[in-house]
Amino acid sequence: MGAAKVRVMKFGGTSVGSPDRLDRVVEIVAQSRAEGPVIVVVSAMQHTTDRLIRAADLAAAGDLPAAERILDELMDLTTSNGLMGLRRVEERVGGAAGTVQLLPPVREMISQLRQLLYGVSLLRERTPQTLDLVLSFGERLSATVLTGLLQARGLPATMVDSRDWLVTDDGFGAARVECEATQARLAAMAAGWDDALPVVTGFLGRTTDGRTTTLGRNGSDYTATLLAKFLGASEVVVWTDVSGVMTADPGIVKDAYPLSRLSYMEALELVDFGASMFHPRTLIPLIESGIPMRIRNTMQPQDEGTRIDASGSSDRTAATSVTSLENLALLGVQVRRIAKQSPVGGRLLRALEDAGLTIWMSSQSAHGQAFAVAVPVAERGLAERVVNRELELELQRGEVESVTVRAPVTLLTLVAEAMGQTVGVAGRFFHALGGVGVNIRAVAQGASSRSISCVIDAAETQVAVRTVHAAFNFAHQQVSLLVLGKGTVGGHLLSQIAAERETLAARHDADLDVVGVVGRRGVAFD
Ligand code: ASP
Ligand code: MG
Repeated sequence: MGAAKVRVMKFGGTSVGSPDRLDRVVEIVAQSRAEGPVIVVVSAMQHTTDRLIRAADLAAAGDLPAAERILDELMDLTTSNGLMGLRRVEERVGGAAGTVQLLPPVREMISQLRQLLYGVSLLRERTPQTLDLVLSFGERLSATVLTGLLQARGLPATMVDSRDWLVTDDGFGAARVECEATQARLAAMAAGWDDALPVVTGFLGRTTDGRTTTLGRNGSDYTATLLAKFLGASEVVVWTDVSGVMTADPGIVKDAYPLSRLSYMEALELVDFGASMFHPRTLIPLIESGIPMRIRNTMQPQDEGTRIDASGSSDRTAATSVTSLENLALLGVQVRRIAKQSPVGGRLLRALEDAGLTIWMSSQSAHGQAFAVAVPVAERGLAERVVNRELELELQRGEVESVTVRAPVTLLTLVAEAMGQTVGVAGRFFHALGGVGVNIRAVAQGASSRSISCVIDAAETQVAVRTVHAAFNFAHQQVSLLVLGKGTVGGHLLSQIAAERETLAARHDADLDVVGVVGRRGVAFD
């Protein structure tokens, strides 16, 4: 791919989910490609993966007609996006689009998928292996369409099926990548790419004996970072439908804004605490290689987005982001006496993990009499059974004071790289929550000291997120000033503002913004 380092650009499901967006994607790729070599990675079109899961379930349940209706929808979505996208490209570049045959490969794939689902309906069985094969059609369809559109735009796009290079184990549904084999295959393959513009299916892989696998939900980002690492890319750009990693859920906090920088570790922490940004393994290839990632908005390509790299923001006092993970249940256990050999907390945690529960948070009092764990509401019943079984003896002996369940609750987390170095972050966090009367049901500090979490009642989620967001540097006090007259007094004021602005921002979290000056000779607004 020449001497210049390649850029890997990944487009998510929403970015390829409508003709308008596809049109933007084509333009973004065309522009980037003019600046240097690019590899494109795509997800399935929006909702496609969910639809395919549903179709496979219906087929396995014996309802083939319903499964086929989903296929028809998929066919409609894919072809209409493809054809309308093609028309947009045509409007831009003239007749070139006419030569691209988009529909035949799409039809061919859908008919293969139809046969596959027919097979599923006969067998009445939908194993993880079969599901992965069914799901693979999602990414293959979107890559086919995007390849066609890029070709119509005059670019040497070529579709690359990731199953031809990404080697995995047979952990269907969440397969593990076999790095050595993958790297070797990719190197051999990339050698033949020359000047081509590869359009790679995200999410997919294949076992050494040729069975299709997937990397797990949201796996396309991971495909992109693996490619970047193995090919020594300059950066990975994840194009999505938001302008970066936000300081809070914009649905809850109106003035949430995208962070400009984030360290890998902060980003990992955010993944851990429910900002379902990525597949959990996404960042690993980047951490290993030091390659930065940028998250950018397909519909607002002028926005800088968030850059995620080894160093993160240079502002060590800044908190990063506040996340809320809802629909959890909090199990609390209080014991009277502690068995000397085996504190209850450790045992319970192990038992819950062995039972396969998703544990979002656990905490234990210093002396081990109180233990709390947060699990998804859906797993509440199982968690209770596990706890009761594990404590059977203690319960019989009357050593357990109480086993309580609170649901629904929310796990609220503040991520801050500086948490470890700066005292007072935790204090400010709890003080802010206490100040608005939010009851804290359990507390946990991440082992990494990069985050602090607490469990609160679901009903208080919104007020808690807003309060924490406002308590940290996110919510500057913004003061807009209109200065009337810029004679001696006004002039002094203006120079004072200019001189003190940084101090005010740093010490008092206030941002003074002069929006207009009215003088004798005129009015200036900005
Ligand atoms: N299409 C897959 C999913 O929906 C992979 C991805 O989008 O990254 O999970
Ligand atoms: Mg995604």
